[in-house]
Amino acid sequence: MTAKRAILIELPKGRCDIEYIKRLMALTNLAYREYEVWIPGLPKTIQHQLYEFKNFKKRLVFGTTPKKWSAETWLPLKTLRIYANDSMKGDRVAPVVLDFKSNTIRLRQVCRNEPRYVVELPMPKWVIDRVKEGGDVRFAMIGLKDDKPYLALVVERVVEPYQPSNYMLVIDVNAWNNGVAWGLIKDGFIIKWKPERPNLREVDNLYNLSVRLSGEYGKLKRLGFEKTEEGKRLRKKIKKLRKRLYTKLRDYVQKLVYRLVRKAFRHRALVIIDDMTGESRKELIEEKIPTGLRKLYLVYTRMFVRLLVTQLEWYGVPYEFRRLPSTVCPVCEHELTQEDGRVMVCTNCGFKAPRDKVPMYWAIRTINPSFTKISVAHIKGGQPPRPQGDPPTKGGKGPKV
Ligand SMILES: [Zn+2]
Repeated sequence: MTAKRAILIELPKGRCDIEYIKRLMALTNLAYREYEVWIPGLPKTIQHQLYEFKNFKKRLVFGTTPKKWSAETWLPLKTLRIYANDSMKGDRVAPVVLDFKSNTIRLRQVCRNEPRYVVELPMPKWVIDRVKEGGDVRFAMIGLKDDKPYLALVVERVVEPYQPSNYMLVIDVNAWNNGVAWGLIKDGFIIKWKPERPNLREVDNLYNLSVRLSGEYGKLKRLGFEKTEEGKRLRKKIKKLRKRLYTKLRDYVQKLVYRLVRKAFRHRALVIIDDMTGESRKELIEEKIPTGLRKLYLVYTRMFVRLLVTQLEWYGVPYEFRRLPSTVCPVCEHELTQEDGRVMVCTNCGFKAPRDKVPMYWAIRTINPSFTKISVAHIKGGQPPRPQGDPPTKGGKGPKV
């Protein structure tokens, strides 16, 4: 299996001809729609390699094929890799050169349409780390995002998922207000469980403040005062607030994904993901969360799932998507009743667990059909029965999770 990851590198705006990049993107868009156009004046090397990309094109665009007639299509580029031991891989005349000897990236005639025009960038540590892990940067892309020029490097790695051990890591994805709950399961018993969520009060405060200021700015705009000192100051402040909010959420997502992937990898666990983003939307509407915030929560929830899957694949961690209900009793399948503090109770068999923990029991049930027999005592007594012959673990000496 080939796993892929990508990194975006902002290019120095002053050294890039935005109009030139726009033309290259328009050309790429045509290529995606099966037109082969040769534009005089554009470098032949770039045009040649664009049509050679035909077979790769679908996988090169981030996830989706470009919408018709939209010019926002990034241009795929070939790369030449020069390694520390002087070995080389790729096309000698490729427009993107990754030099691991000097740890620089050279872009040849990509940023401006002038012969021998080269922009040199420092190699991000991220790329060096991925290459150390066995990755190879066969392709790059150039394009504009919010009118800023970027280079995207696509790292590929051939990896076979490992055979899972007796560990399972269950990840139950909700929208951010209820967070992500994970459970580490060993031999059919939950040995650790934790709900994770970002600092919601902080997120809410930032969001509410930006909404309030946007309202004030709107008022000024209606009066025609948006160009005044105050208007400008307000606009700058709103922009800064939003950026802080997005950065906060993104950092949170990235750190959580990293931790969970490491945890799975360390235990050679099979990862089970329950992605209920669709249902979460309903839940958010019911909880009367404002539309803007709701969207924000969902955007970052989706980002979490996407990043998680990308990284699990990259490190060869086997995973499955499975629906794990949180409102049905995992012991007797009776409907569960929700009590205060998101605690779920079964009026039929006495099962009781925090709502976010119920999916973990369902995960155990799917791999262990005898779950119903052993589980009730365990859930009620709180102590998992120890398998015979297994020495008792002393406090603090349990498995590191
Ligand atoms: Zn029950």
